Amino acid sequence: MNDSRILILMSDTGGGHRASAQALQAAFAARYPGRFQVEIVDLWTDYTPWPINRMPRLYGPIVARGLWFWKLLWAVFENERAFSAALRLVYLISRNELRKVLQAHRPHLVISVHPFMQHIVLRLLEQEGAAVPFMTVVTDLASFHHGWFHAHAVRCFVASEPAAATARRHSLDAGQVRLLGLPVRAPFAGALPEKETARARLGLADTAFTVLLLGGGEGMGPVAATAHAVARRLAETGTAAQLVVICGRNKRLRQSLQRSDWPIPVQVCGFVDNIQEWMVASDCVITKAGPGTIAEALICGLPILLSGFIPGQEEGNVAYVVDNGAGAYCDSPDGIAAIINDWAGGGQLAQMSAHACELGRPRAAYDIVDEIVELLDGDSPVAGDS
Ligand code: UDP
Repeated sequence: MNDSRILILMSDTGGGHRASAQALQAAFAARYPGRFQVEIVDLWTDYTPWPINRMPRLYGPIVARGLWFWKLLWAVFENERAFSAALRLVYLISRNELRKVLQAHRPHLVISVHPFMQHIVLRLLEQEGAAVPFMTVVTDLASFHHGWFHAHAVRCFVASEPAAATARRHSLDAGQVRLLGLPVRAPFAGALPEKETARARLGLADTAFTVLLLGGGEGMGPVAATAHAVARRLAETGTAAQLVVICGRNKRLRQSLQRSDWPIPVQVCGFVDNIQEWMVASDCVITKAGPGTIAEALICGLPILLSGFIPGQEEGNVAYVVDNGAGAYCDSPDGIAAIINDWAGGGQLAQMSAHACELGRPRAAYDIVDEIVELLDGDSPVAGDS
């Protein structure tokens, strides 16, 4: 079959969906050079009418400043009836715009990396009579909106046993569900630099205990308070330590941290493209429970101190990390500072690091694209088996 155009559908709600989409795009290019034209589209922003197209932009401010509202939305959309009624409405309002995505990209395969695409796009394909296979790559680790799972997806690639079990509960059969890991960007799949090399390249001291602190792509949560508490505590205990704070797209946070006085060496960055180097250079990471950051830290064998989670989609990630011995959870800046101080002096880090490595799946993106291509090349029909 002619299978050269692949469309990956995502939406910029957080940084993780785009990061996974890019990981898959890069994996197609690396494994099958020249064979596929892979395009990434923010379906919600680019192919729905106003005001629906503005919703992804509201996600950041809502989870940063209106968590109660997010909890309410999540609770409403946990109800399958309410969710499918809302999606039906979105589909009806957006149908004409949505058609344009098929006209513009004429895909031979559609892959979704977002929980709110399955129902709408499968309906679109069906109503347009387009015999295009549709697959889902679930980019959550341990908490899942039911929107991820649709029995008509040819394959549903998941990153953990709980995800596979949830997919099966939502009527996907064992053959449809494949547990291959969460696709993270290409540098994590290759040879990572040595710690010393990374530290030298990033201008970090080579022997100091190094703590990485971040809050997802948007720099969310009490990052500033945590940075100050950790720096203060490590200074008080006389630990030879340094702190790296990655603020993502949160410019205000970056500016305020850059203007601060610090009792230990602190590097403050905005959005960085080389997060793997910062992870390799560090001894542990403090982060909200974002699945992308967790998956990347596991690959780097980095002990993880979870400082919070977005209710709903990130809640289960806490138990996933803690129960598997790869880290701990604490949501108060002073508590976090005490744990970090403890980690700086104790021997627990090596054990947590080993547990993290066991969970990491650096080649997930390659394994997923290999299976997809095997399927496209195989005799079994991938379209229309819904
Ligand atoms: N990230 C990055 N540069 C930054 C900050 C974050 O590349 O400066 C990436 C991070 O490596 C991860 C993603 O953004 O891949 C964040 O995804 P996650 O699922 O952890 O949280 P989200 O931002 O989606 O809530």
